[in-house]
Amino acid sequence: MQLKLDLHVHTWASRDGVSSLEEVLRAASRKGLDGIAITDHDQPFPMQLAEKLSRETELLVVPGVEITTRQGHLIALGFEELVKPMCDALAAGDLIKSAGGVLVVPHPFDKYSHGVGEELAVELEPHAVEVCNASTWRRYNRRAAELSRSRGIPGIAGSDAHHWRGVGRAYTVVEVEEPSIEEVLKAIRRGRVRAVEGYLPISVSILTLACRVLRAWGRRP
Ligand SMILES: [Zn+2]
Ligand SMILES: [Zn+2]
Repeated sequence: MQLKLDLHVHTWASRDGVSSLEEVLRAASRKGLDGIAITDHDQPFPMQLAEKLSRETELLVVPGVEITTRQGHLIALGFEELVKPMCDALAAGDLIKSAGGVLVVPHPFDKYSHGVGEELAVELEPHAVEVCNASTWRRYNRRAAELSRSRGIPGIAGSDAHHWRGVGRAYTVVEVEEPSIEEVLKAIRRGRVRAVEGYLPISVSILTLACRVLRAWGRRP
């Protein structure tokens, strides 16, 4: 069976996130997604809570984290260890893989969003590379897709939404035997994935920035 998952979503737990977990989950359901990965900055999502939400709601919630390394961002799915921010990317990658997590290189060519760059993206030997990030530029995604093709690294997609309105703008179709977190992780490792491209409308980007300003002023948007 095929499931549609947005594999890169932020919540209020990220310093620059402006929507609650509940808002993000509601948005994912409304968008018709089968699941999402919560990937807050340096804040691993608890596996137990992900399993509980996956049981009690109609969505599969994949626990993840977007780790800030010295060389840029990495995403770990199915991994809930706390990694010290600004650690070495290769050391973090080894840790994620040895702990059984799925290592994804997000937006590798977007230097402004802390992409790790082509050389490191290859050296990390990730399970997948993000070939469509709905919050970056098309040209960066095109280069990521080329990297995925030339190196045979599975390509996935996610919105990188920091506001619920951005959820599901890009997503990944995952081929699984049954809908479970473990099956989704297995499918990514095996490359049974297809990225579906899409972009945040400018209105959502502006709304996100405005909400961040409110948050910085101590107001909950
Ligand atoms: Zn990032
Ligand atoms: Zn992100």
